[in-house]
Amino acid sequence: MPIRVLPDHVASQIAAGEVVERPASVVKELIENAIDAGATSIEVETRGGGKSFISVVDDGAGVPRREVELAFHRHATSKLITANDLESITTLGFRGEALASIAAVSRMTFATRAAGEELGTYLRLEGGEIVSRREVGRPPGTAVTVEGLFYNVPARRKFLRTERTERRHVDRWVTRYAMAYPDLRFALDHGDRSAFQSPGTGELRDVLVGVYGLDVGEQALDVIADDSSESAIRVSGLVGPPSFHRANRTYITVFVNGRWVKDASLTYAVTQAYDRLLPKGRHPMAVVMVDLPPSEVDVNVHPAKAEVRFRDGDAVFRAVQKAIRRTLLERAPVPEMGGRSSSSDAEAPWSAGARGWRDGEARRKRLTALGRAGTEEQSQLRLGSARPLDSGEGVLPPLRVIGQLGTTYIVAEGPHGMVLLDQHAAHERVLFERLLNQRKGAGVPSQSLLEPALVDLGPEAADVLDEHLDILGQVGFEVESFGGSTMMVRALPTIVAEEHPHQVLADVAETFLSGEEPLRVPAEEAVARQVCKRAAVKAGQVLEQAEMAELIRALEDCESPHTCPHGRPTMIHLSVEHLARQFGRT
Ligand code: ADP
Ligand code: MG
Repeated sequence: MPIRVLPDHVASQIAAGEVVERPASVVKELIENAIDAGATSIEVETRGGGKSFISVVDDGAGVPRREVELAFHRHATSKLITANDLESITTLGFRGEALASIAAVSRMTFATRAAGEELGTYLRLEGGEIVSRREVGRPPGTAVTVEGLFYNVPARRKFLRTERTERRHVDRWVTRYAMAYPDLRFALDHGDRSAFQSPGTGELRDVLVGVYGLDVGEQALDVIADDSSESAIRVSGLVGPPSFHRANRTYITVFVNGRWVKDASLTYAVTQAYDRLLPKGRHPMAVVMVDLPPSEVDVNVHPAKAEVRFRDGDAVFRAVQKAIRRTLLERAPVPEMGGRSSSSDAEAPWSAGARGWRDGEARRKRLTALGRAGTEEQSQLRLGSARPLDSGEGVLPPLRVIGQLGTTYIVAEGPHGMVLLDQHAAHERVLFERLLNQRKGAGVPSQSLLEPALVDLGPEAADVLDEHLDILGQVGFEVESFGGSTMMVRALPTIVAEEHPHQVLADVAETFLSGEEPLRVPAEEAVARQVCKRAAVKAGQVLEQAEMAELIRALEDCESPHTCPHGRPTMIHLSVEHLARQFGRT
C-alpha cells in the first residue's frame, strides 16, 4: 500500500485511544479540566457505568464564547504557551488533547459560561464534528455530557467491561481526586443512586470517611511533616495504623503535586515504612501527598499522565518512607513489634502477639475446634465426597510428626523420606475443603455475634458486598445493608468468629474488588478461600505436637492435600534417595 496521510477523523480516533480507554478516563479528564478551571464543586453522574452516559458539571471559570470551538481542537490548550512551560506545569492538563479525543469517540454536549460573560455557549458534537451551536443562559461554569462512548469505534466498545466494573473504575477516579483536593466538593451519582460525596471542608480525613468508611477515617494518622530538612520535598496525608491492614496494595494511594500517580517505587516506599509493623503478606492503607517544585518532576511521560519521572527519585523515596515511618513510630497506638531483632525472626512477634490469635487461649480453642470438627465430620465428609480412597494421586501416606521448624513448617516422616509441610497452607486446604463440603451439605456453621456489628467499609466495598449477599449467606455470613455504606453483620462463619468483623468483611470485599475481572473462579469459592486464609494458623505460630498431628490427619481427608486453595504447595517431599545422594551415599 502507498503511504498516505490519515484522514483527520481516523487520526483523531487513533489519538483518542491513547487518552480515552474507558468511561473512567473520560470522567478523569473532565474532572481535571474542572479542577484546572478553579471549580469548587464538581458533580459527576453516570449511567450504565458510564458506557451510556456521563455528565460532569463544575462551577469553574468556564470557556469564553469565542474560544469554545477552539477548545475542541487537538493541541488547543489555555495552559501552556511555550515548550519551556513544560518545566513548570501547575495544571493537571497541558496537552490540549482531552476534549478533542473524547469528542472524537462519542456524542458530546458542552455547555459553558465564562465568569465575566452574560451568556453561555452550548455545543453539540458527534464523532468530533460540531453539529449544533447556540447561546444559552446558564450559571457560570461548565457542564459536559458524553453519550455512547465508542459508538463509532466498535472495536473499542467491545472491550468495555461490565457495568459494575466500569462503575468501579469511575469510583476510583472520583474518590482519588476528592482525596487529592479536599477543598473541593465532589458528588458522584450512578443513575439515581448517590455513590459518593465529599464535603469540601479542606480536611482529607472527612474525604477518607466517604471513601473507606468511618473506621478508617477515625483511625488514620496524620503524616508528620518534616519541617527540619532543607529539602523541597513535602510529604503529607493520612496513613493507617499498623493494626489496620489489607490483603492488597489498592489501599495505597499516592499523589504527586495533586496528580494521582501509579508509581511502584513510591508504593514501595510506603510499604517499607511499615516494615515489620504489619503481618506478612498484608498491606497498609495510606493516602500520601508528595509536593515538590514542578521543575523537579516530569509529568509528560505517559499518555494518561498517570506516571511521572523525578529528577531525584531516591530523594523522593526517602522522604516518603521517612515521613511515614516517623508518623507510625510517634503516633501509632501500637509499639513497634520485632524491634531490633534480626529479620529472620521478625515475623514471630506478630502472630504470637498483636493480631490474629491474640493469646494462646484463642489459638488453643481454634485448634480444638479443628480437631472436633475433623472427627465429627470425617464420616460425613467421606460420604459426601466422590474421592476414591485408594487412588494414589490425592491421598497422603501416613506421616509421623517429628517437630516444628521455624514456627512455620511441620517436619514429618513418611514411608519414603522426609516431608515438610507449610502449616498455614495445609490448614488453609483443610478449612477450605471442609467449608465447601459444608456448603453443599448441611450448611456452613455460622456463629451469631453477641450484638450485630455495624461495619462501614466505604461505598465501593458496601456496593460489592450488597451485590453478593446470597453468596455470603452460603458461606456462613449473615450480613445486610444498613443504609449508606454501612453493613450490619449478625453472624460470621464459625472459623472466623473470633476475628474482627470489619477485617473479615473488608477482606471479602477485596476478593470481589481486586483486579479487572476479579472472579474467574466461582464467587463462593473465592470468598471461601479468603475466609479460610484468615482462619488458618499463621506462619510464626507455635504448634504443639498433638495439634500438628491433628492437622496432618485432617489433611489426609482432603481431596487435594498437596496444594493450598491458592495453588501453592502444602508440602515438600525429600525422598530417602534424594537424601542419600546429597550425603554422597550412592
Ligand atoms: P488541556 O486540559 O490539556 O488544556 P483539554 O482538551 O482538556 O486540554 O481542554 C482544552 C481547553 O479547554 C483547556 O485548556 C481549557 O481552556 C478549556 N476547558 C476545558 N474544560 C474546561 C472546563 N471545565 N472549564 C473551563 N475551561 C475548560
Ligand atoms: Mg484537560
